[in-house]
Amino acid sequence: MKPVVALVGRPNVGKSTLFNRITKSRQALVDDMPGVTRDRQYADAQWEDKAFTLVDTGGFLSADDDYFASQIKEQLLRAVDQADVLVFIMDGRAGLSPYDRDLADLLRRTEKPVFYLINKVESLHRQEDGLGEFYTLGVDRFYKVSAEHGLGVGDFLSDLVALLPDVPVPLESDEPEEDDNGPIRIAIIGRPNVGKSSLANRLFGEKRVVVNDKAGTTRDAIELSVNRKGREFILKDTAGIRRKGKVSDKLEKFSILKALDSMEDCDVALILIDCSEGITDQDITIAGYAEKRGCGAIFLLNKWDLVDKSEKGQQAFIKELRQEARFLAFAPAITISAKTGQRCHRIFDEVEKVYKQYCHRTNTGMVNRIIEDAVYRDEPSLHKGRRIKFFYASQVAVKPPTFVCFVNYPDAVHFSYKRYLVNQLRQMIPLTLTPVKLYFREKT
Ligand code: GDP
Ligand code: GDP
Repeated sequence: MKPVVALVGRPNVGKSTLFNRITKSRQALVDDMPGVTRDRQYADAQWEDKAFTLVDTGGFLSADDDYFASQIKEQLLRAVDQADVLVFIMDGRAGLSPYDRDLADLLRRTEKPVFYLINKVESLHRQEDGLGEFYTLGVDRFYKVSAEHGLGVGDFLSDLVALLPDVPVPLESDEPEEDDNGPIRIAIIGRPNVGKSSLANRLFGEKRVVVNDKAGTTRDAIELSVNRKGREFILKDTAGIRRKGKVSDKLEKFSILKALDSMEDCDVALILIDCSEGITDQDITIAGYAEKRGCGAIFLLNKWDLVDKSEKGQQAFIKELRQEARFLAFAPAITISAKTGQRCHRIFDEVEKVYKQYCHRTNTGMVNRIIEDAVYRDEPSLHKGRRIKFFYASQVAVKPPTFVCFVNYPDAVHFSYKRYLVNQLRQMIPLTLTPVKLYFREKT
């Protein structure tokens, strides 16, 4: 049986939005009206290598105030009863409500773990403004998130799954799987004016426009698609990259939110930088979001036609980029001009190379050999005088390749040793162009 995680909180705080984000399904009805009839929702979810069942305790709520309050309470008590972990969601925009206080009181009585989330916190700097009143609840730790944009949700999920029991690692055949020939979803991100629209037009310009009508998608969801050498590439035009000026989307102002939005479901992010202006802090911040998202990434140093190469050549630019964005060392970098088309024909080839590694599945025998060899050559330092033993390793997920090592003291493996193992996996498999994740679990 998978552990059950329940989302609780008064109506309209964003439970179903968070539910959808975590389960990636769009079926749940998201509505501005509190008190919409809604069935309780269950779905399978997974984060890192842990699986769980997520419950959205939406339910029916009457508009009658007293009845309403008792209903919320009853729902919460039922959730406390049935779930293994509770996630209590509050609304950072609306502020602390008396209902929140009542529910928090009820939650204090359970011995089950409770996570406290303040949702709808998406201001760029995510200041503490106005959130002070939540601290009067006497809760140790709050997670400030935006369910709608995914901000902070990953950090919360990582802490959540750390509490969940291990799921058995699925047995794999020793045959590497067939290459994934499906469409590759790309995103074009970058601060305003770096050339995103120009590049989208160059890559997808004359091509077919696909309208995606997935139920429940609230935002602009036009997708552009192009076929090249038998492979389909899809660009989600969330923020109206191509139809500039017509966009009334309130997100338009914030290129970071825009970047986060367009990276949802994406396999490879194209991070555009305007070379004529040099590499700026905001470029690095945006690149940081791509890294956090865990997708493949390619740096495109655009407007190369404007650069005086006698002053600063390609090598110098790329070297500077590597220093500033060490966290994306695996991302290829190409100088291009979206305007003249210089080297733009290489972009799809490069995307395909990155994608191949991003989906790569390594057979268990090979993973074990690589880890065994690495440990044999350079043993981890002792943990309180005892050896850290490696029992077994395996790849548990793709997109990106994710590995798990079973050891006797998972928390004792030093960060630098983890980096060493990741580098060994990268070089030997090879997985030099994609993010790679590695987790340690206790052998039970
Ligand atoms: P529930 O009743 O708790 O399930 O809440 P819903 O998920 O239906 O969300 C209620 C409203 O809040 C909807 O209009 C959502 O679009 C909105 N909402 C949810 N999450 C966020 C968020 O992170 N930021 C903002 N600004 N609005 C959100
Ligand atoms: P976006 O805001 O990121 O979508 O940027 P746009 O595609 O609208 O480009 C902003 C400006 O830069 C426009 O005037 C483009 O014509 C110009 N531009 C885009 N790419 C290039 C390029 O490679 N070289 C030059 N010289 N100008 C470019």
